[in-house]
Amino acid sequence: MRDMKRFLVVVMAVVAIGAMAQVERPKLVVGIVVDQMRWDYLYTYQWGEGGFQTLMHDGYLCNNTIIDYVPTVTAAGHATIFSGTTPAFHGIAGNSFSLNGKTVSSVQDDTERAVGGNEKTSAKSPRNLIATNIADQLYLATDYKSRTVGVALKDRAAILPSGHTPVGAYWFDGNSKSFVTSTYYCDKLPKWVVDFNKRHCDELAGDIYNTPVGTTITFALAEQALISERLGQGEATDMLTVSVSNTDMCAHNYGSHSPKLDSIYWQLDKELAHFIDFLDSRIGRGNYLLFLTADHGGTHGAPRMEAHHLPNGAWENGEARKAANEVLKSRFGVDNLIKKDHGFTFYLNHEAIDSAGLDTHEVAQVVCKELEKADEIEWAVEVADIDNSPIPTIVKERIKLGYYPGRSGDIYVIHRTGVQLGKTEWAGSNHGTWSQSDSHIPLIFMGWHITPGETSRLTHMTDIAATVCAMLHIQAPNGCIGTPIFE
Ligand SMILES: [Zn+2]
Repeated sequence: MRDMKRFLVVVMAVVAIGAMAQVERPKLVVGIVVDQMRWDYLYTYQWGEGGFQTLMHDGYLCNNTIIDYVPTVTAAGHATIFSGTTPAFHGIAGNSFSLNGKTVSSVQDDTERAVGGNEKTSAKSPRNLIATNIADQLYLATDYKSRTVGVALKDRAAILPSGHTPVGAYWFDGNSKSFVTSTYYCDKLPKWVVDFNKRHCDELAGDIYNTPVGTTITFALAEQALISERLGQGEATDMLTVSVSNTDMCAHNYGSHSPKLDSIYWQLDKELAHFIDFLDSRIGRGNYLLFLTADHGGTHGAPRMEAHHLPNGAWENGEARKAANEVLKSRFGVDNLIKKDHGFTFYLNHEAIDSAGLDTHEVAQVVCKELEKADEIEWAVEVADIDNSPIPTIVKERIKLGYYPGRSGDIYVIHRTGVQLGKTEWAGSNHGTWSQSDSHIPLIFMGWHITPGETSRLTHMTDIAATVCAMLHIQAPNGCIGTPIFE
């Protein structure tokens, strides 16, 4: 009996120590995403002092970080970086996808309303993201004390990184030329955001998508969010997510190494220098963990490659759908058996297939055969039948990891290497394929518990969330398939 009592006292003491155990964590986690930043841009530009130079000198560089799924697009990238998993598990199958028979944007949510700006614009939320992410796990691990804010020009780039539980997410509404949010987060735009919009209304009124102003305004909002929401000032670790969207918009419009895009990267370098100084003075270098990465890379554009005798090509999905639908009609006597195309996928018209008593697989085979006639297409595959296709395993796995049943299209197209989506004469960059141009992204960690260094071993976009969560000693997001990078 006495032994039992002694045992219980020991057990209770252990439990009490366990409940009180304090894990050492930084005050703040900062996740920066540069939209469409190719990995080689780190070494393309001659950076000034304080921005990329500081990150590359004081940080740890993962020089061989790859995206393990297709399509390599913005919404899927932002969802993956912070959740450590891929569209197959987080559900963000593209910038838009099929949901309950409708095509929706990745963050569209008609059960909410827009807050701020022109309130008639469609409302948004992170509900289509079906996995948790770093911010959510921090929130859970800290008994709901952790506070997260997400900012970006693009809605999806503010919403998906900050997860389901932030105090706010803010993005730019082009109609009202102001930063807005949705009723998912709050019923009224916080005063500090209203004031920010007023204070910066001149800058917000200009072309912020294709000029450096978009970068400046994004970091200005991030800094204001940190001050106004007192991020990094509480007892729990907070999180700030910042996504730079105009690097992508300008690259699409003007192409890589265009003077306009270069000017945005020069400005980004300056904004990063300012932002790092700001974090150092407000939070302290050793008290924040920062990472910088990209949601995908981008091509150099077909005309530029052509001018330098490099393999290239472009392919338009809309025209291909029309042509394939003609073939299907003559074969099966039914119109529009392909309902729509989106990026690299084609959605079959299952209602029409069923009502005509057709076999889905047979229809899909005809479509694939027709699509593969194009020089620019190496393989077209019915994803449900992918294991019977001759596509190399490395690409096959990426298609599977990017496929979410019901949301993704039925047929996936793999371009010939070097071919991009779009018109041949289009000088702009694009992305979405498995190719190095699109799937090789920069990844740098800096600050709390980071020893400067670099590696060229293979790391994955899904490792980012796994690494941050392991460092913080919090459970990885529920769909995470990545591995922590550091020992
Ligand atoms: Zn993007």
